[in-house]
Amino acid sequence: MKNILYSLKRNSTLNARDSLNAIAFLVSVLAISPAAAQDQQPRLIVQITVDALRGDLPQRFAHVLGEGGFRYLLDEGVNYTDAHYQHANTETIVGHTSLATGTVPAAHGMVANVWFDREQDRLAYNIEDSDYHLLTEGAEVDRKTEIDPTQRAARSDGRSPANILTSTFSDELAVHFGGRSKIFGVSVKDRGAVSMAGHAGKAFWFSKKSGEFVTSSYYYEQYPAWVAEWNATKPAEAYSGKAWELTHEPSKYLFGAADDRDYETDVAGFGRTFPHAYGTADDKYFTTKLTLSPAGDELTLDFAKTLLEKEQLGQDDVPDYLAISFSSTDYVGHVFGASSLESEDNLARLDRTLADLFAYIDNKVGLANTLIVLSSDHGQPEVPGHLHELGIRDAHFFDTKGLDKTAAIAALKKQFGIGEELIEAYFHPYLYLNHQVIDAKGLDRAAVEQAVAAELLKFDGVAYAVSSSALRTDALSDTLMTRSVLRNFHAKRSGDIYLVFEPNVFISDFDGLTVSSTHGSPWRYDTYVPVMFAGNGLPAARVVRAVTPYDIAPTLSAYLGVKPPSGAVGAVLPEVLKN
Ligand SMILES: [Zn+2]
Repeated sequence: MKNILYSLKRNSTLNARDSLNAIAFLVSVLAISPAAAQDQQPRLIVQITVDALRGDLPQRFAHVLGEGGFRYLLDEGVNYTDAHYQHANTETIVGHTSLATGTVPAAHGMVANVWFDREQDRLAYNIEDSDYHLLTEGAEVDRKTEIDPTQRAARSDGRSPANILTSTFSDELAVHFGGRSKIFGVSVKDRGAVSMAGHAGKAFWFSKKSGEFVTSSYYYEQYPAWVAEWNATKPAEAYSGKAWELTHEPSKYLFGAADDRDYETDVAGFGRTFPHAYGTADDKYFTTKLTLSPAGDELTLDFAKTLLEKEQLGQDDVPDYLAISFSSTDYVGHVFGASSLESEDNLARLDRTLADLFAYIDNKVGLANTLIVLSSDHGQPEVPGHLHELGIRDAHFFDTKGLDKTAAIAALKKQFGIGEELIEAYFHPYLYLNHQVIDAKGLDRAAVEQAVAAELLKFDGVAYAVSSSALRTDALSDTLMTRSVLRNFHAKRSGDIYLVFEPNVFISDFDGLTVSSTHGSPWRYDTYVPVMFAGNGLPAARVVRAVTPYDIAPTLSAYLGVKPPSGAVGAVLPEVLKN
């Protein structure tokens, strides 16, 4: 609708008769869809997050795209081509929560996927919450087969958004419309769903153990009937005995002749080359393999479509909100790398998933009544082995186990009388010191932190190590790195020393499983993400001005006339608001 108005307004060559015809046409359109005409407010907001979709990837792999998916966003939407996060720890919960809240981890508090909880004296998973429990018994994380080490840090099966300290856009929508907006978050990853649903919405995620979409008692006392019905049809089992096959002929791909690479990871027999067989449903890694492939996104799509229909989203004048986070791109990137045939085909498959979703929304709600925004929680690095093939030699995995720490420990022992006992834990991106030992010895914590940071900086591959006590002072020089670490600093959750490796250097050890690549750095390949808006009559635009993903939540707020989330620091994007 707005497209028509927009093009009419701009066309100054219209003569009187054309104008009359146009008015007559408009009147007829208005009569057909009075709701869309009377108000430009969308009936539905769909916020899509593609986990680990680096900003260049949709354009880079444009040759495998079809119609109606990414092409719809690229050709008919507002496409920001230079969007970067400005916080240091580019991990999943950090980015998702930044998208949801429009602010940095220093404010929203989700500083890492895992942090050391000083009260409980242990590492804790970002959204775990022992006040609640999973609604499905036996759907908790299976510690024996879980390949995501962050999930294994959780001690309870309860999940909630309680650790998110500022409001989300979805929360503000709930407040603005007095609870009449329907708000949902869906993802394979629990953190991808819980973060986006906010405190007021409902979240569903995939249990690899049960092969079902589940939720916790924070959201429901029992499953809505449609969820139980969807799960009862066992959609994951439809992949039993099947395989992830190439969508196109190999010659169509940039990496069509480079499928087998020794730096790719073979997880539980999933293999390094196409076709990647899922095995049968009784294989203990069957559902894990689904998540390492486009199948995870396809299941998410099917569940989201069912939700959209059964919960009747977008069917009245009060705007509803559906957040969908597609996780496969992240897992495929970790296992095969951003420059792999698998990543290239995964994007082609994701493109079909998006096209299916957009067609479904158009049919049920109308794209003219739906505002879509797509972004990502972080980018991706290149695999060192791949960079070596191109003559880029400095890239390497940082090997914590093979590291010779003798000199560092000796230096600390000389200064403080103790060495290794000073270290409590390391979990990306923080090193945690043993406060009891330091206090018992009567040592100055700040001095110890600073000394350990100085020793860390001596290791090859370490670019920056800064203590939290130094971050609390004004003594640090104002550099881009310091700023990005400060934006990640939360007094109650951040560890004692923030560690940054050189570009193309990272730890890729998932507790014994060496994966191809790991994001999480402040470098540009990890901060770079797409930001695309479309639908609800937005005119197409390509914007090269630098923006940030923190701008999305305040832009959605402004678009709907809703107050911004409590900690929002992003700016309202004028290209989305201008008509
Ligand atoms: Zn992620």
